[in-house]
Amino acid sequence: MLELIRAKVERGERILVDEAVWLHEHADDAALRGLSAKVRARFSPPDQATYLIMAIVNTTNVCVAKCDYCAFYVLPKQPGGYLLTVDELKARVDKLLGFGGTVVGFNGGFNPDVRLEEFEVIFRELRQSYGDRLEFYGLTIAEFMYACKVSKVPYLEGARRLKAAGLRWITGGGAEVLADAFRKRHSPLKYRVDDFYDAQRAVIEAGVGSTATMVIGFDETLDERMEHLSRLRTFQDSVGGALTSFLCWTYKPYHTSLGGKELDTQAYLRWLAISRIFLDNIAHIRTSVLTKNADALIGLAYGADDFDLPTEDEVTEKAGATISLDFERLLDAARVQGFTPIHREPWPVRGATA
Ligand code: SF4
Repeated sequence: MLELIRAKVERGERILVDEAVWLHEHADDAALRGLSAKVRARFSPPDQATYLIMAIVNTTNVCVAKCDYCAFYVLPKQPGGYLLTVDELKARVDKLLGFGGTVVGFNGGFNPDVRLEEFEVIFRELRQSYGDRLEFYGLTIAEFMYACKVSKVPYLEGARRLKAAGLRWITGGGAEVLADAFRKRHSPLKYRVDDFYDAQRAVIEAGVGSTATMVIGFDETLDERMEHLSRLRTFQDSVGGALTSFLCWTYKPYHTSLGGKELDTQAYLRWLAISRIFLDNIAHIRTSVLTKNADALIGLAYGADDFDLPTEDEVTEKAGATISLDFERLLDAARVQGFTPIHREPWPVRGATA
C-alpha cells in the first residue's frame, strides 16, 4: 500500500480516505515525513518556513453554547462575565504592536447581548484607527453564525455588512471536529456541520477571507477525523481554493468538564503530516505553537510550512496552554529542524477562483 500511495503522491494525485486511514494506522514517521514533504514542496520552498506574531484577544467570555471541552465561558448573568469596550480592545492591539505583531484574532463566546451592529461599530473603529498597520480576524465562522442568528440577518448579508465595516477575514475557527456525531456529543448547541459550511460559503461569496481549522485529541474517532478532512477537501474544491490555510491544534483538557488527557506530540505531528498529504488543495498547513510550544516546530518536518508566535489567548491558556515570549528560542527550534524562518506579511484574501 505504501508504494501505491507514494507513487500517487509523486504523480501529484490525490489520496483516498482509505489510504489516509492506512497511513494513520501503518506508516512509520519517516514515511509520513517524506510524503508530506513532497506535497509541501508543491506550495512552499522546502527549506523555508514563514511566521508572524499574533494575539488572540477575547472580546467576551459570555457564552450560551456550553461546549463540554471549554474552560473559558461563563453563562449570561453569572459572575465573572465580561465584554471588552473598543478602548480596551485598542489597548490590547497596542500591546501586540509593541511586540512587533501584525495580526489580532478577535474571538469570543456566543453572547446574546452582542448583535451584528455592535461588531460593525467595533471593526469600523479598528480599521479607521489602524488602517493597514494591523490585520485582524473579526470572528470565527462559529461566532459569525451566532451573531447573524441573534441579529436575524442572513449569512450573506451579515458578511457583506462586516466587510463594509472594514473586516477582511472571518476564520474557520470554532470548527474543532466537523462531524455531526462529535458535535452532538460535545457541543449540541453550537451548530450543525451543514450550517457551518453554509456560513463559510456565504463569507467567501461576500469576498471576505477565510481559513480552515481543526482541533484533535478529544475522544474523536478516526472516522470522525477523516470526515472532517474529507468534507473540507470537497468544500475547498467547491469554492475554487478560497481557504488560505489549515491550522490544526490539540485540545487542552485542564479545567474543562470533559477533562481527559492531552494528546502527545508524536500523535499530533503524524496528524499534521496526514492532513498535508490529504489536503492537496490547501496551500498552507500551519502548526500550533500555542498548544505545542517549541515542539510545534518539529511539525515543519511533518508538512507544515507556517506558524504564528502567539502573545496571548485566554481561551487556551485557561485550559492549560502556556505562552512564551522568547521568540528567538522558538525560531531556533525551527532552525534546528533545518528550516529558515521568515517573518511574513499577513496573507491577502484569496478570491473564490484564485
Ligand atoms: S468553545 Fe466557544 S462556543 Fe463553545 S462554550 Fe467555549 S466560548 Fe462558547
